[in-house]
Amino acid sequence: MICDVCKVREAVVYQQHTGRKLCKGCFIEDIRKRIETEAKKQNLDKANKILLAVSGGKDSLVLADALSSFINPSKLIAFNINEGIRGYNRDDQIRKLYEYLKDLGIELIATSFKHEVGFTLDEMVKAATEKGLKVSACTFCGGFRRKLINEAGIKNRVDYVATGHNLDDEVQTIIINLIRGDLLRLIRFGDKPLRVSSGFVTRVKPLRKIYEWETTMYAYLKGFEFQENECPYISQRPTLRAKVRELLYDLEQKSPGTLLKIIEQFDSISEKLRANYTLNKELPRCVICGEPTTYERKICKNCELLIRAGLLPQ
Ligand code: SF4
Ligand code: ZN
Ligand code: ZN
Repeated sequence: MICDVCKVREAVVYQQHTGRKLCKGCFIEDIRKRIETEAKKQNLDKANKILLAVSGGKDSLVLADALSSFINPSKLIAFNINEGIRGYNRDDQIRKLYEYLKDLGIELIATSFKHEVGFTLDEMVKAATEKGLKVSACTFCGGFRRKLINEAGIKNRVDYVATGHNLDDEVQTIIINLIRGDLLRLIRFGDKPLRVSSGFVTRVKPLRKIYEWETTMYAYLKGFEFQENECPYISQRPTLRAKVRELLYDLEQKSPGTLLKIIEQFDSISEKLRANYTLNKELPRCVICGEPTTYERKICKNCELLIRAGLLPQ
């Protein structure tokens, strides 16, 4: 089987949504180019500094690898958080991540929930369980991760925070927000970066048009050693996302290219959706941690969770 692009090398990948057979080099270049196109649409090539949120998983390695191919690595800072999950966060993985980023010329800032919040995720979950709280580990994890990433972005005066969300993640979230009727959250999505408020760094997702299988294949073909072990709290992930994921997988199998069509359609209407909303550029601050919060709240959701778990005084 010969590659449909270079017509020279042997094809190793069948790209279902384009119907092409690609060799290793042409496949990697196809993904890299698509990431570059999307990143340029999001103005990343004009930024002075970008914070890359890197977990050490395949998507974050693909993100760092692809961005550093057209953005000077001195403009990129990688940020990693150790959540403090026993058996999941491992020192050797951070070392590998550090070495890998060093080869690309990207500085890594590594921190942890324990250092920044005072508790590991395991400690938060244990305290919440003892108080009989029905709050999943993922709620603590996602909330504090978002907070720390935003704080790091502000502290390092970056123009953007880039995350490794891929096409599958992105379309799942769009559909979930539609199902919930959460238009305020929905308008954050789209191919034009949106600054939600002055207290939040603008978030961008350069891999938002790359299928998950493609990021996996890119990482595999490049020989990345990425974190593959599963988080022990995985079963606590929201079930709606798992159902939407399954449904989208089915649709994509029956009609390859469906996910790309959904996101492209969404992009074409996202500006109109945004035009109907006025964002509150100045949000009130949490009286405990200073994080931007909503008008209905004096205390942010993260601090409220710690109080309810008995980890912060009332
Ligand atoms: Fe965090 Fe939940 Fe993901 Fe585990 S599965 S890393 S707890 S969001
Ligand atoms: Zn080729
Ligand atoms: Zn707070």
